[in-house]
Order: sequence, then C-alpha cells, then structure tokens
Amino acid sequence: MSVAALDTHPVPSCVHGLHALLDTVPTAAWDGLDPAEVRRLLAEIGRAEARLSAHKMAAARVLEKARRAAANGDGPRPGTGTSTGATISIDFGGDRSGADALVNTAERIEEQTTLTEAALAAGEITMKQADILSRALAKLPEDVTSEQRLMCEKTLLKDAQKLTLKDLRRRAARITETYRKTVDEVDADEDELLRKKEEAARAKTSFSMWDNNDGTVTGRFTLPEAQGAMLKTALDALAAPHQKVGTVNAATGQMDEVGFGQTYPQRLGHAFATLVEHLPADSLPSNGGVSAVVTVNLDLDTLMGGVKAAGLSDGTRISAGEARRLACSAQLVPMVLNGSPLPLDLGSANRYFNRSSRRAMEKRDGGCTTPGCDRDARWTEAHHLNPYAISKTTDIRDGALLCSFHHHRAHEQSWIGRINPDDEHVEWKTPGSETWQRNTRWRP
Ligand SMILES: [Zn+2]
Ligand SMILES: [Zn+2]
Repeated sequence: MSVAALDTHPVPSCVHGLHALLDTVPTAAWDGLDPAEVRRLLAEIGRAEARLSAHKMAAARVLEKARRAAANGDGPRPGTGTSTGATISIDFGGDRSGADALVNTAERIEEQTTLTEAALAAGEITMKQADILSRALAKLPEDVTSEQRLMCEKTLLKDAQKLTLKDLRRRAARITETYRKTVDEVDADEDELLRKKEEAARAKTSFSMWDNNDGTVTGRFTLPEAQGAMLKTALDALAAPHQKVGTVNAATGQMDEVGFGQTYPQRLGHAFATLVEHLPADSLPSNGGVSAVVTVNLDLDTLMGGVKAAGLSDGTRISAGEARRLACSAQLVPMVLNGSPLPLDLGSANRYFNRSSRRAMEKRDGGCTTPGCDRDARWTEAHHLNPYAISKTTDIRDGALLCSFHHHRAHEQSWIGRINPDDEHVEWKTPGSETWQRNTRWRP
C-alpha cells in the first residue's frame, strides 16, 4: 500500500479520530453528571471497548500472518519480538501474557466461529464472552455439521445477553442440546468434555514445599478443582470462628493472650495444620513397606511432663509440650520409651476416643473446658487427662474437650486436670493457681 493511500485508509483515520475525540474530554468531566446517566454511559463505554477489542484481534491476526509469512522467507518480519504477542506487548503496555491471549483468541475466533467477531465488532458481546463462545465451539464433538455448529453459535450469542460469565460457561458445556435428539446424547457430550478437562487437570497437578529453616515450611500446589473444593470445605469447617481465644487472667478477668489465627488466611493455615495432624494413620497406604506415617518418639519422663525434647521419625526435633499434645490427639504414632529398647506404647488405634465417647464428652463439656473459654464443642479436641500410654483407657472419665489453642497450652504448661468426683465435671489447675477451676458456661 502506498503512503498516499494510507491518508485515506479508514483504519488510521478512525484511530486518529478516536484520539482526537478523547482529547476533548478530561476525566473530570464526569463529575456532576446524573448517576443514572453515568450508568448508561458506562455501559456504552463497555460496548465501545468490545468494539475496539474486535479491531485489536483483527490487527493481531494481520501481524501473526505477516510473522508466519516472514518465517517462510516471504516478506519482512513485523517487529522485534520473539512472537506476535511479544511484539504487541513491547509496543504498548508490556503485558506479554495478555498479548499472547489476544493472538490466541483472535485465531480461535477466526477458525471456530462465524458470527462472533461481528457481534463483538458491533458491541453486542464482550471480549470475555467471545472467548467463552469460541472455546465452546472449538470443543464441539467431531461429528458436528457446519449447520449444527452455526445453530450452537446463534444460541450462545443469544444466551450471552442474559447469563453471567460463569453460567455462560456452564451453559456452553451443554450446547449440543441445540441439535442432539435425546438428553442422553447431551449428557454423554458433557461427560466427554468434563473427562477431557479432568485429564488435563490431572496433568497439571503438582505439589512442592521447601524448608524455610526457621521452624516453618512453605509450599505451593495445583489440584484438580474437585479436590480443591474438598480441601477448601475441610479447611473452612476446621477454621475456628471469628471469636477471640485466649487465657483469662485470674486477677483482671481479661483475656491476656490472643489465640491462633486472627486473619482468615491465618485461621485457614491452622486448619490446614490440624487437617495434617488428623490424616488417618492406620489407613494410609505404605510405600513398599515403608510407613507413610511419622512416629513421635518420646521418653516416658517427657510424656509425664518432663522437658526433654522429642523427635519425629524423620529426625525433626520437637518440644516436650508439642510431643505430648501430638501423642494425645494427633493421628501420629507415639513411641513411648522407658529406658528399654522396646517402646511402652506402640500407638494402638484404640487410643482415640470413639464417636460415642466423643458425643458424651460434647454433652458433658459443651465446649472447651478451659475456665473462661467460649469455644463450642465443634472447635475442640479430646484430651487425655492421663496419657493413654499410662492409663490405657479411652473412658470419658479420662477425657476433656479443649480447643486447639488451649490444648497446646495444656501440654506446654503441663496443666493438671481432673473430673470432679461429686458432679463429674472437668476441672483444671492452671499454672499459678492452687485451686480447681472450671468453665462455667451455661449447660442446658
Ligand atoms: Zn491432650
Ligand atoms: Zn479453649
């Protein structure tokens, strides 16, 4: 094209005209407009943006075709980027992934759709809707005819006018119902789509974690969405509610410590730690005879309140209090040693309170048994007043409910607990207190 022709070409004059128009309106001009009018205009700007994105896609396609031609030794190479996306992002904005997505969507829309680009160019649908439509049409079964494909596209363009993006995606998964004769066929088409999606998700699944060398580890993972939903549901159920937990100071009557997890991510983090502690020790598969479960190895002295640190079977050192708490309720196997090479307790599965004992304790205690704590029973762990390795019993007269925070404290500070012989309620002697105290929550 000659330079003279460029002056009259519609694209450059349109682009220059747009800039010239925008130059006449400062953003401050919106102040003082009637809100109803602002809403209407905002929707109009959205339409204009959609129309511009149709042009961006058309432009990206021209560049991509020129790049391919250049790669075949046919014509000059457009730009210095390693790809069309890179070239576009170098020229404006630096958003490489956004520019790559633009090129991909532009090509997909050209290959898969008939009416979608015109609808975008007319401002009838947004770029995101056009993207969903082209992806859905790209996934139509192989036996689809071009007529059926067009019917699907028309239906989706109509549905896009009333559905949210999330619903449009779900609707698109069942779009073959516009031409299939039976629901069974549509079910089979959707199932095939989901099967492919799940297969792709499994291929992307990964997990890694690394030691921060400060007593913590950090990790990242990618899970298929079904397992992600399971994890999220479990964490939400385990994350403590918004109440503050602490220890009531006997002198002031005020909470003098604030418990775990003030923010939502912190509470989810503690929930995750709890979840890990409760992995079913006895039913995890073993890896070629190698146990999938860590054991906590501690001395009888430590179990009874001593301060000698303990170890996990992988060599991790833990404090005496943490070892006692883990031996008490976590699905870890405690190996309690008493000077002889054979452990006193091999961590039999019987050491957990069963469902009915747990329910009986919920009824009796109503929640955390620490004086002043208001955590209800859902947020508690069953604590052995005497270590199981010694008592060998899971009688509820040996158990007391404690919230996770106070369970940590009870073991760290070696609280002494008992069941009051008169009314069978749990009582504690916390550090610095010589008298038995109990939680005075109202019980129906
Ligand atoms: Zn305990
Ligand atoms: Zn508590």
